[in-house]
Amino acid sequence: MKVSNMLVNTLREVPAEAEIISHKLLLRAGFIKKVASGIYSYLPMGWRVMQKIMDIIRDEMNNAGGLEVGLPSIHPAELWMETGRWDVYGDELFRLKDRHQRDFCLGPTHEEVLTDIVRKEVSSYKQLPLLLYQIQNKYRDERRPRFGLMRGREFIMKDLYSFDKDVEGMNISYKKMYDAYVKIFSRCGLEFRSVEADSGAIGGKTSHEFMVLAKNGEAEIVYCSDCEYAANVEKAEAYPEVLPKEEYKELQKIHTPGAKTMDKLAEYLEVPKTKTIKTMLYKADEELVCVLVRGDRSVNEIKVKNLLNCVSLDIADEKLIKQELGYPMGYIGPVGLSQKIKILADLEIKHLSNIVVGANEHDYHLINVNPVRDFRIDIEADLRLIEEGEKCACGGGDLKAARGIEVGQVFQLGTKYSESLNAIYADEKGNNNHIVMGCYGIGVGRTMAATIEQNHDDHGIIWPMTIAPFQVVVVPISSKDNAQMQTAENIYQALKKQGLQVIIDDRDERAGVKFKDADLIGYPLQIIVGKKTIIEGTVDVIVRKNKEEKTLKVENVVEFIDNIVQTEIKYSLA
Ligand SMILES: [Zn+2]
Repeated sequence: MKVSNMLVNTLREVPAEAEIISHKLLLRAGFIKKVASGIYSYLPMGWRVMQKIMDIIRDEMNNAGGLEVGLPSIHPAELWMETGRWDVYGDELFRLKDRHQRDFCLGPTHEEVLTDIVRKEVSSYKQLPLLLYQIQNKYRDERRPRFGLMRGREFIMKDLYSFDKDVEGMNISYKKMYDAYVKIFSRCGLEFRSVEADSGAIGGKTSHEFMVLAKNGEAEIVYCSDCEYAANVEKAEAYPEVLPKEEYKELQKIHTPGAKTMDKLAEYLEVPKTKTIKTMLYKADEELVCVLVRGDRSVNEIKVKNLLNCVSLDIADEKLIKQELGYPMGYIGPVGLSQKIKILADLEIKHLSNIVVGANEHDYHLINVNPVRDFRIDIEADLRLIEEGEKCACGGGDLKAARGIEVGQVFQLGTKYSESLNAIYADEKGNNNHIVMGCYGIGVGRTMAATIEQNHDDHGIIWPMTIAPFQVVVVPISSKDNAQMQTAENIYQALKKQGLQVIIDDRDERAGVKFKDADLIGYPLQIIVGKKTIIEGTVDVIVRKNKEEKTLKVENVVEFIDNIVQTEIKYSLA
């Protein structure tokens, strides 16, 4: 490919609409173009990367026994009504009517459509297991589409659904997909973790998210330095630290002027934060609840929400607290707290003795407070956020924190959809059973964006070899110099003949512009053809990743480049 024949317009300026690095660089490097809010076109460079990611995904899905299908984007409302999701999906579902006023939606996911096929096509255990997948556009009417390809309204996803006879079969399918995902993200050259994900309200179901590690990732995760354990912070189970019990002292009220925050209080009373309690009041739907965690911990609102099974959970504001309880903000404590408020305590609370809490009175705290003796606990549960440095449950390692971007999720569905859609099969004895399902998604555009979040520098994108739009660029410094252009062309042809994915920057542009574009677009390898090439017969090869430069004889360049490319591809397969 020649750059002069390529549709690629790079931008020097950072587009105002873009907030995060991947979005900025995808626009600047000419990979995508916005059509409307949350809706993008992929330009040739961007589409090459998307194709490569999709090729890897397709390859591994097929290796794992997946069968590719092509499913429609337009789904009839009746199917979604059968599972009840037409009503519960809410505003995120793109709904439309045809000329006969019949309702349809644009598919955000395909459980309904595919289970409908399976219930009609599968009748016997002999036809199971089945792993069916597609790579296709999905639609979600996000309230606030943003971050480019990270949260769009139309996006490309691979989704596979597994259909098995029983839970045992589903577990095998799940493992197959899990292993395939590990291979896919490794082959994409990404540093990632699979983390235990929220199994939701339905107990006993398993789910994992695949997170690409990136400094600015939206999700906070913890992982063990010793074992395989990794989890989303919001979901990670925290184990209580058991502090030795002290002999109970007499409760006292003391004056603590201005000690409104935990830090000020600990400093004022000269007690460690582990000897205080954080008392948080929340409005859970319409009910006011109190959550207690140790003074040095933070409340995990997801856990509170799951425990209460509420739709909304917001910190109660000063006005509400004043109006409901007449207490001043900043001095709230559990002692003597109104009976109408449920008190939820983290598992660590009961291990505390002689602690400090707010006195529900301006500028006053209580000291030597003891749980149960001095205040009631209505519900005890794990309610705190886990923190970096804590011991892992395996006993060996410490938990480390990292940030990640979710690019894939595997989920055990069980019989949720086969029951609502009545997808059954006859077993060996002729009895009818519900098919047991799993679903497995990968966001393709998200994977491309996450790759950039993980692999970039001040100059631009740094593509992993396996998904780069081109593996190598040949840059003649002067397009006016015929000898340079001819040598560059010869090298380009030789690399192409070797089967390498190569592009030549044959434009009539200044060298500086070509170098800047090569860095911005992020080809893993650059070959610079200049005066030296003509005089000394050498070229400079620059490795984009670390900017390492090497001077080589022209006759050795093909072998050298091929070697690097093959080594990196092999490495990603290992
Ligand atoms: Zn561990």
